[in-house]
Amino acid sequence: MFLGGILFLLGGCTQKSTTKKSSSTHSSRVIHKTNKKRTTTATWHHYQQPIELPILMYHSISSGNSLRVPPEQFANEMAALKQAGYYTLSASQAVRAFKTNSLPQEKCVWITLDDGYEDNYSAALPTLEKYHLQATINYITSFQSRSGYITHSQLEQMQHTGLISFTSHTVNHLDLNELTMKEQWQELEQSKKTLDLQLNQNTQVVAYPAGRYNQLTLQLAEKSGYEIGLTTHQGLANNRQGLFALDRIRITPGLSTAQFMYLIANG
Ligand SMILES: [Zn+2]
Repeated sequence: MFLGGILFLLGGCTQKSTTKKSSSTHSSRVIHKTNKKRTTTATWHHYQQPIELPILMYHSISSGNSLRVPPEQFANEMAALKQAGYYTLSASQAVRAFKTNSLPQEKCVWITLDDGYEDNYSAALPTLEKYHLQATINYITSFQSRSGYITHSQLEQMQHTGLISFTSHTVNHLDLNELTMKEQWQELEQSKKTLDLQLNQNTQVVAYPAGRYNQLTLQLAEKSGYEIGLTTHQGLANNRQGLFALDRIRITPGLSTAQFMYLIANG
């Protein structure tokens, strides 16, 4: 207990009092790497009603079009999350949340960035490190040597911070619903194999490129070994949507902080 208490304090994870929705609790330890130190423990609360989790969807952290969120806006949003006491889940914690219908604290958010732009390293990572927030990059495995995207070395550096999870955004970022079964399988399975091998992990999450998928995609994603799949349907995610068709919340440039916080609460 004493050690647990110390780890809890070090982690700084605000433990909310048990809510009315919480039916039972079970203790388990969540440990993530932080600059090679082991920190943070939290008690996960199990809920009777399906949890609703905001999964934020970013792409490039820069400016220029409706998919790009400027670094200053991103920094303001991360500061707002921190200030409001949100805990940011890693990919494996998010999987656990949906599969067990539980959360480490009441206010949680899952930050995802699609495509693996180089500015995720140069512009987003410093902010995430500043506020000690976790995020997940949905990575396109064939883009690793492409200009403007995260390089192999950057990927490893990001992984070593202990704050960034890498999950699949397929091999080539094609519209899965337009591919044959065999092609879909290759996009899903090969990207998982690459990430599993390169990062020495079990890649549990796939985000469908451009949110395009069909019923076959959902089956093949599961068969490939993923545990959840992310779409671009707008809304708070809950497991009634199906673990392979979870909604996300698109963050667009020009949002005010108030609008951002509204989206997180309401989808
Ligand atoms: Zn994409």
